[in-house]
Amino acid sequence: MPEAPHAGATRMIRPITGRHRKFNEEYFKALPTRVLKKSSCIFAGSALLLGLGLAPANAVGEGPNHNGNETVNTSILHTHESMAAELRKQDAKQSAMELEVIGHSAKGRELFLAKYLSDPANPTIMFLTQQHGNEQLTTEGALEVIKHLGTGRMAKVLEDVNILVVPMLNPDGAMGDVDFPLDDYIASGDRHLTRYNANNVDINRDHVAKTQPEIQALHNNVLSAYDIDYMIDLHHQGTRSAVDGKLVSGSILYPTTEDVSEEVREGSKRLGAVVYQNVDPTGWGHLGKYVGGTANTIARNGIAAEYGISTLLFEMRGMSDHYRSDYVLGQKPNGYLRQQTILTLESTIKAVADGSVETMDTSFWDSLPEQASLPGEENDE
Ligand SMILES: [Zn+2]
Repeated sequence: MPEAPHAGATRMIRPITGRHRKFNEEYFKALPTRVLKKSSCIFAGSALLLGLGLAPANAVGEGPNHNGNETVNTSILHTHESMAAELRKQDAKQSAMELEVIGHSAKGRELFLAKYLSDPANPTIMFLTQQHGNEQLTTEGALEVIKHLGTGRMAKVLEDVNILVVPMLNPDGAMGDVDFPLDDYIASGDRHLTRYNANNVDINRDHVAKTQPEIQALHNNVLSAYDIDYMIDLHHQGTRSAVDGKLVSGSILYPTTEDVSEEVREGSKRLGAVVYQNVDPTGWGHLGKYVGGTANTIARNGIAAEYGISTLLFEMRGMSDHYRSDYVLGQKPNGYLRQQTILTLESTIKAVADGSVETMDTSFWDSLPEQASLPGEENDE
């Protein structure tokens, strides 16, 4: 019965060890709804500072939006090719890391999984970035975390936690290599970045039907293949979301579908508590509660429901490219947005490793204000 999920479709750099593998039966329902040109993620500042990315003191949501006066240059972002080269370099350097190709995008680009599996008995946390191709600072931050995991500073932590990182799940959208025009996208640089995959599908609406190769690779070769306890799905939203009268640096939300157990939802809320306690007190961090739907087609809901994984959505401010100028964030905030990703990943890795995630107080959720969208804003997720 259950056929090995890897059959045929994928090419591995190294075989999966098998010890974590579960053979869940996959169901592939037909026909997803294609969402054409719906709300896209906002155009976040394209530029990540490739340097240290230290947060400017005044940064809380105060970076200028793109307004035509500031160049937003996508050339400073990793390309899929340069990201792949960096991952392979780290794989060669880091004994604790294994790099796997879990599948290919619609246009044939490799989809990667960076694995740190020290002990099957450890709790496992997974990070997913860039389902939406125009939300790249999360990938830039995740790459930095992968580099950090190879340093002595993080070596001890790796003994007590398993980590899975899936960066840039939508590389065709990230590279603007898609079968629809991007003429009206506004970033400058070598390429445009778009929310959708090459088939013009929003892959974060495909987690039930699973029609797209990127989503099939994620479900068959990651979600079904490992026992994952926690997952953070990283996105960027618009530039104009605010709470308490101040623009947010990001917003978070647990699964809101009815199809998850209270235990799974509580785990998500505890994971959110770790993020909130680490990010909000920084000079640049200002978090709100994301206002999201209940559909299982979205990763935050569908992955929690199907696999019993405690998931958290993190929506950071601003997108890397878009056809709407009010979604585009200027480059100045990129340093703190990238730093926000790094802090989110590293603080949750530590909290899962030392077990503190299990005892977090989740009552802050009751008073966390929902973000309000100023005119022109659209949700992302
Ligand atoms: Zn998104």
